[in-house]
Amino acid sequence: MDIAIVGAGISGLSAGIELTRLGHSVEIYESSDGPGGRVRTDSVDGKLLDRGFQILLTAYPEAQRVLDYEALDLRSFQPGALVRHAGDFHRVTDPIREPKQLLTTVRAPIGSLTDKVRTLKFRREVCRGEVEQLWTNSPLTAQQRFEKLGFSSQMIDRFLRPLFAGITLDPELSGSASVVDFVFRMLSLGSAAVPARGMGQISLQLANQLPDGTVNVNHTVEQVRGTELIVNGETVKADAVLVAADISTANKLCPEVHDVGWKSTTSVWFAAESAPLLDPVLVLNGGSTDPINSLAVMSRVSPFYGTDGEATIVISSPVVRPGLVEDMQEQLVDWYGKKTKLWNVLRVDEIHKAQPKSSSGQRSGFVRLSDGIWICGDHTLDSSINGALRSGRLAAQAIAAESTSAKA
Ligand SMILES: Cc1cc2nc3c(=O)[nH]c(=O)nc-3n(C[C@H](O)[C@H](O)[C@H](O)COP(=O)(O)OP(=O)(O)OC[C@H]3O[C@@H](n4cnc5c(N)ncnc54)[C@H](O)[C@@H]3O)c2cc1C
Repeated sequence: MDIAIVGAGISGLSAGIELTRLGHSVEIYESSDGPGGRVRTDSVDGKLLDRGFQILLTAYPEAQRVLDYEALDLRSFQPGALVRHAGDFHRVTDPIREPKQLLTTVRAPIGSLTDKVRTLKFRREVCRGEVEQLWTNSPLTAQQRFEKLGFSSQMIDRFLRPLFAGITLDPELSGSASVVDFVFRMLSLGSAAVPARGMGQISLQLANQLPDGTVNVNHTVEQVRGTELIVNGETVKADAVLVAADISTANKLCPEVHDVGWKSTTSVWFAAESAPLLDPVLVLNGGSTDPINSLAVMSRVSPFYGTDGEATIVISSPVVRPGLVEDMQEQLVDWYGKKTKLWNVLRVDEIHKAQPKSSSGQRSGFVRLSDGIWICGDHTLDSSINGALRSGRLAAQAIAAESTSAKA
């Protein structure tokens, strides 16, 4: 059976790998000039810049299935974070993984001692049992979940909000509590990491698992008419079509797919003569998520992100707005002094369509729209590398199963 996949993002690549493994022939049509969708890396003046600050949580079960971590040469952030609060930086970490930092964490004015004990309780709770049990379709929002766990508003505002605003782009903590549980489990069981040569290596490693010529770049799918596609003006026939594009494109090609809208983010990449900190640790703003929500010296996480003479720093915020970069620069002076005025802006990534506002919440991970037409992508599960990988794999298995039963 020939399957046409629309989009070579993480979900389309994952579906292609699984369908190929199950013996199907696959063509992937990708409108841009390379595979990876939202997970790509560019080389700018010898430095590596991901398209928006992103991390791989090494405990992601789907990533563990399909990625070769050793070949990616993963470089990890230190557990926890360095939190900026009241004019100083405070180290907050997971004392189980970094027992030496126990005292520092306990003393940090980021939540009370009770909050720190609750964090350990939360950790124990989310790490119990099978990971899929965490996706309970909880009616609670992230904020309600933290309140129900008994966290103080200090702990939420100074640590949990900026942490999750960075990962889920949801500073209001209005998204599902299940996402929070899942992410907290991932953070507790593994590390936050990047491939030594940039996040785009994840996509390239996936693409390299496909037979040569499977991914057709610069091929835009203009229409889906049953199992026929119009690609760059030409008609392509397939036995089944899997639309693995982002939610807005999926809606354009198949209007039955509801476009829920997008969460946005800005990442600003700087070059600096010297790094403002030596440790590969994520810095969080314990005061507000705007203008700076997080800062990371990427060249301390992996030297390949920087160059000999210069450090590469990325600063992110879960908003896109005029004046943001100038406001970030002002805040940088407050954090690290006037020398930051000499930092050179390498690139500003204003990503309006970063993560869908919500996902279908159906753990099936894909949608069968009609005979031969299937939808997958992060919007059908949860917006993450893990969600996109899983969605593609589950869609592929369902397509293969239907083709087997049609033959029987
Ligand atoms: C800035 C940012 C930060 C993020 N941070 C993290 C993080 O730290 N950790 C994490 O796990 N996740 C993170 N995510 C989320 C994660 O990157 C996405 O959930 C995932 O990459 C989505 O993959 P996808 O395949 O579903 O969609 P996409 O990556 O959007 O792939 C869809 C593909 O379809 C192609 N396409 C679109 N229209 C057409 C057409 N008409 N014809 C042919 N091809 C088409 C696109 O070019 C694209 O390649 C982040 C996302 C962003 C943007």
